[in-house]
Amino acid sequence: MKSASKPQRDLRVVVVGAGMSGILCGIRLQQEGITDVTIYEKGDRVGGTWHENSYPGLSCDVPSHVYSYSFEPNPDWSSVFSPGPEILRYFEATAAKYSVLDAIRLGEEITSTSYRDGRWHLETSRGRSDVADVVIMATGVLHQINLPEIEGMASFEGELFHTARWNHDFKLDGSRVGVVGTGSTAVQITGAIVDRVEKLCLFQRTPQWVMPQENPQYSDEDKENFRTHPEVMKKMYREMSQAFEDGFSNAVIDANSDGIKAIQVACIDHLESKVRDPDLKRRLTPDYRAGCKRLIISGKFYDAIQQPSAVLVDEPIECIEAKGIRTRDGKLHELDAIVLATGFKAHQFMRPMEVTGRDGIKLNDVWRRTTPAYRSISIPGFPNFFMLIGPNSPVGNFSLVEVAEIQFNYVMKLIDEIRSSASLELEATQAATDSFNAELIEASKGTIWATGCRSWYLDEDGVPAAWPFTMRKFRDEMEQPDLRDYRVSS
Ligand code: NAP
Repeated sequence: MKSASKPQRDLRVVVVGAGMSGILCGIRLQQEGITDVTIYEKGDRVGGTWHENSYPGLSCDVPSHVYSYSFEPNPDWSSVFSPGPEILRYFEATAAKYSVLDAIRLGEEITSTSYRDGRWHLETSRGRSDVADVVIMATGVLHQINLPEIEGMASFEGELFHTARWNHDFKLDGSRVGVVGTGSTAVQITGAIVDRVEKLCLFQRTPQWVMPQENPQYSDEDKENFRTHPEVMKKMYREMSQAFEDGFSNAVIDANSDGIKAIQVACIDHLESKVRDPDLKRRLTPDYRAGCKRLIISGKFYDAIQQPSAVLVDEPIECIEAKGIRTRDGKLHELDAIVLATGFKAHQFMRPMEVTGRDGIKLNDVWRRTTPAYRSISIPGFPNFFMLIGPNSPVGNFSLVEVAEIQFNYVMKLIDEIRSSASLELEATQAATDSFNAELIEASKGTIWATGCRSWYLDEDGVPAAWPFTMRKFRDEMEQPDLRDYRVSS
């Protein structure tokens, strides 16, 4: 690569999204001397997923000392796996500390962007226009909600909402609540509300494997120790990250690994030791392998589902009626609220935004069925346009914060190339993208995600759209861009 020690021009950069990765861009671009930056955020607060989700029980099942920016360790995490509101406060506080809040335009969504005359022209939901030399999409993966098509949904007389649109006006205490879905979200909600409601019906379409979790609190002494000895936190970051990598990340990418077999055994032991009633145990036992779907990690779920107020409903849903949910066996489950824990459209990325690249190429055409991209960050035909946590990122295996940092550092090296010249277009070549994606598709066949289950990892062709190699390989390959894989033109 060329030396970028003498940038020849100041770039204007637009970042879309002010969640974990958008805030990261704001901080790091500033540190790299790029100050003409605007970050557009469709929500009315920063924090992305940690702002959009506010359901009871929200937490992160990646240890907080790893789910932190490497440059901003936090001595005040309350527990190993901290609750959602605390994580939101961390991202807000970090954005404020690094002075990126002034660059953020809240409540303003980018509705379309097109590449003309060497620059990106953007339109916003407020009817404004903007122009940028470089665009970074930091729009996240799980933000377009998946609303199921269940007959009669509009006829329900109670409250009905998706988990990412939690209705805080609804009084949970003493009410009858139906939760549809059994993903990580539903499981966290079940554990959090079962003791508050009169009745909780959990509508399960597919049982889940659940890994046990202990969540020790950090004492005041621990926090003081972290504060006075930041090197302890740095060491924890490295050790936890390595343990996560060895115990989980490297296990899920090889369906025959000892690691994934050990995860299955741990899940079976968890179910066996926790669930007493043989019939309930049978109904909670999946018929696919542990880790095929995104693994659930919860120390509370099995206790919660055995509380007197909890009912596991595994009859398929027939329809929704005025008073509740009717299942295929004809039974009406009367409810005051229906919570749709039905997940997200994970393959939308920045869409429905309309993105038009060089020569009028439409992203919706390029990504009609699947979402090919080179190294998750660049798309042929879309110059000077980058993504963080784009397609095939290691979303199913690692702390997304470290993934975003690695991707940003890589993108920054490309931005350095762009600013080293008076006018320069840079985008992945079609050949590099095709060969990268062919390699991913081939490798994904050997992962646990491809062993036969329905999950949001799978794309329209049934191929797991996540990084199918080790984190070591990810780090190594993302260390330095190979410009032979890019179309670079002045
Ligand atoms: P999800 O994992 O996609 O689960 C959606 C659930 O809804 C599934 O049980 C699915 O059943 C069910 N469902 C969907 N459509 C349905 C329908 N029409 N009728 C009945 N059931 C239906 O969604 P999620 O639980 O919101 O989690 C999404 C992801 O967010 C997770 O996988 C995880 O990556 C992330 N997350 C992370 C944390 C964390 O602690 N880090 C916490 C929460 C979420 P099937 O299984 O049959 O499809």
